[in-house]
Amino acid sequence: MSSRERYLPSMTAVQIAALPDKASAPVIVTTGAIEQHGYHLPVAVDSLMGQVWIERITEALPDNVPCYIAPPITIGKSNEHVGFPGTLMISKETLRMQLFVIARQVSAWGFKQLVVLNTHGGNTSVLIYTLREIEAAYGLKTTFLKHGVKLEPELSAQEDAYGFHAGELETSWLLAVAPQWVKMERAVCEYPARLSDPGELRPEAAPATFAWASHDVSASGVMGDATAATAEKGERWISQMVAGYVARITELAAPKSNP
Ligand SMILES: [Zn+2]
Repeated sequence: MSSRERYLPSMTAVQIAALPDKASAPVIVTTGAIEQHGYHLPVAVDSLMGQVWIERITEALPDNVPCYIAPPITIGKSNEHVGFPGTLMISKETLRMQLFVIARQVSAWGFKQLVVLNTHGGNTSVLIYTLREIEAAYGLKTTFLKHGVKLEPELSAQEDAYGFHAGELETSWLLAVAPQWVKMERAVCEYPARLSDPGELRPEAAPATFAWASHDVSASGVMGDATAATAEKGERWISQMVAGYVARITELAAPKSNP
């Protein structure tokens, strides 16, 4: 079944009212960002990937697994990328309220489950506490979706720890799905820290972390090794992650998870 057949805004009010499987069907909302991704990737990467996941997941999901798609939240909390052209951002309060208003209506229409598929790390902390509030306010079962699979080929330990923005992973994804938008000749390798660095204070993956902004830790805006990216790795990783997402959604949609 295509994503359009599961996309709630493509339905009429009458169709939404008549959907027979609202008690078990998770409603997925993607949360992304429009923000700088170095010299080589478009600013839409995170929001674009949200739509890629939805397309690939709905293609792979068996037709008899109920699941619907809410309109995406495309601008995220990206204040860590301020100062680079192309970055848009909303506040944590606006992000929280956007999710809240979608949840309120999804609940009012009769659905019982809301699932967030997030593609921007800067949104994560807000989304997690907001999902808990939504669960308490509307009785919706809420899930922060994770693919839960081990990627093959594995990222290096250095990339795994410090390749968290516009690096090997995201660049490979884009090479696989939208190569015309990738300027590989401008790709760089720039890490905000090295595993071998002395001391315990680093931006991420350390005993002590600090609230970094991109311009403090990266001149290019890249945090990772974009030069290691290939379309082949991207396609393989996307397939592995889609399989993980599909398994999780199938589990969520099963009647036993909705007592
Ligand atoms: Zn990104």
